[in-house]
Amino acid sequence: MSITQNTTQAATGQCSCTPKAAPEYPAQLTGMDVLARALKEVGISTVYGLVGIPITEAAYLIQAQGIRFITFRHEQQAGMAAATHGYLTKTPGVVMTVSSLGCLNGLTALANATVNCYPMIQISGASDPAMVDMNMGTYEQLDQFNTAKSLCKAAFRCTHATDIPSAVFRAYRAAVSGRPGGVYIDMTTPALAEIVDADAVEKLFYKPVDLYTPTAPNKAAVERAADLLASARQPAIILGKGAAYAQVDDKIKKLIETYKIPYFPMSMAKGLMPDDGPLSALSCRSTIMGKADVVMFIGARINWLLSFGKGKKWNPDAKFIQLDIDPEEIDRNRPIAAPVVGDMGLSLDALLDALESRKMSVDPAWVASLQAETKEKDAKFSERLAAAKNATPMTHWTALGAIKPVLAANPDVILVNEGANTLDDTRDTISMSLPRHRVDCATWAIMGMGMGSAIGAAVATSKSVVAIEGDSAFGFSGMDFSSICRFDLPVTVVVFNNGGIYNGIGKPLDKTDDPAPTTLDINARYDLIGQAFGAKSCRVTTPDQLSQALTEAIASKKPCLIDVQLAADSGKESGHIGYLNPAPLIDITV
Ligand code: ADP
Ligand code: MG
Repeated sequence: MSITQNTTQAATGQCSCTPKAAPEYPAQLTGMDVLARALKEVGISTVYGLVGIPITEAAYLIQAQGIRFITFRHEQQAGMAAATHGYLTKTPGVVMTVSSLGCLNGLTALANATVNCYPMIQISGASDPAMVDMNMGTYEQLDQFNTAKSLCKAAFRCTHATDIPSAVFRAYRAAVSGRPGGVYIDMTTPALAEIVDADAVEKLFYKPVDLYTPTAPNKAAVERAADLLASARQPAIILGKGAAYAQVDDKIKKLIETYKIPYFPMSMAKGLMPDDGPLSALSCRSTIMGKADVVMFIGARINWLLSFGKGKKWNPDAKFIQLDIDPEEIDRNRPIAAPVVGDMGLSLDALLDALESRKMSVDPAWVASLQAETKEKDAKFSERLAAAKNATPMTHWTALGAIKPVLAANPDVILVNEGANTLDDTRDTISMSLPRHRVDCATWAIMGMGMGSAIGAAVATSKSVVAIEGDSAFGFSGMDFSSICRFDLPVTVVVFNNGGIYNGIGKPLDKTDDPAPTTLDINARYDLIGQAFGAKSCRVTTPDQLSQALTEAIASKKPCLIDVQLAADSGKESGHIGYLNPAPLIDITV
């Protein structure tokens, strides 16, 4: 007999016996409640994702915890948003995906986050692992856990609701500790659906202590590095995005300005020190590589982007100092004379202390020569922009010449940038003056991060964002312009349409009437995509129109899309890295 029946009978007087007190059942929760609560407890403010079986209800419960759930049209973009959120806030960006394909789409971003040292957690719904392991052909069957493992720095699989708090807390610690990176949690349907007593769950929650523990460098290593730097006649500092990520801007400024050391920023380290500052050697990359006697790498890997630190571009006698959290980075491509392994903040503190008692040997003529070279190169660059000023149709340089002063007048706008020529030319043209204001294709030089990173940057910082996109690059994530509109974010997307990958003038070799492999749509109306989702959108064909449209778009703090019509022959194969193509025997452009 149910309790309800019992009560009803008592009320109608049909039973003379004393009604039994209702038994006290403990309050109950599902694994989905536990997940939402765990994210809240660990301090996650935002989850990026795309729902469906089996995570839809979990997303509602997450929202009900007061956590923002920013929805997307493609998981790769949700993941890119989470990764950018992680990079800009030094806390893990979280993405939630559905099983199988949704999970795989998210893993692209997780792998990219790991390679770029962005802290990120992907939580993916997953089918019952017992059925997956027996290859029963269950719904969306995929061994996601083992697929994900090689693409991230740590992975957890929850098969019980009670696993969830520990997995979430440990994932957080793993994402931000040591070298930051991607962490995967396989959130299986049995774990999400399991019903557990609330008081038993309560006991699983604890306050994790020191979710990020900065590790101090070895004193002898710091002394060695200080000696080497102090002995340098022609030193240079190369700043990487690890330096920007670490949020130690004042310490870097102090090191550079006190000891007058010229600096060269890698692309996402631009703005950590002003690009146009007196010690900026942004235009003197080759001179630094060829002539500096001591080079100090601060949060920058000596990988393909720096010609591996060896070969004919590099001074073979230069000695390297490297500050990095990861000991495995040291000696990777060239022996490091003075490695300083540790948290960037503690390493810089220790180095600044050690330098106080030392006499520096910087040759003033070295700094002066870099300044003279900068002046000369900058003048040449200005000439190049001036020469392109009136080109009709516009080239990349015409458009960038129009954009440059607008962004200079809005220095707090975060610049997202992807493409080939659009990436390289924008990086060269647009000066940055604030740290962590440039997010781009980064270490893998990938396309397909634009809308996601723009959304992540806008949500994580509440700042305005301008995304400068090649037409090919925009194609990977264009549909997620709708997510910018759905959340009414202050993001302006600028599409450089030159009608193709690299450019729009590729000619097929033979035996086909199909478009060339590099050809896209020179007459495409990308502005109509903006209109479709209610954004302010326009197509511009002159620099004046572009400058006015961008100024108004930034001022509006609303979603805007500017379709910039370029010449089809503006741009070249692979932008600045054409040398990486296998040696061509054919000419694929007319
Ligand atoms: P870039 O591409 O700008 O040259 P990289 O991504 O190659 O930068 O290098 C970033 C480096 O910064 C990585 O080797 C990473 O281990 C290091 N790093 C990241 N965070 C920290 C930190 N908090 N302290 C010290 N080093 C860090
Ligand atoms: Mg293009």
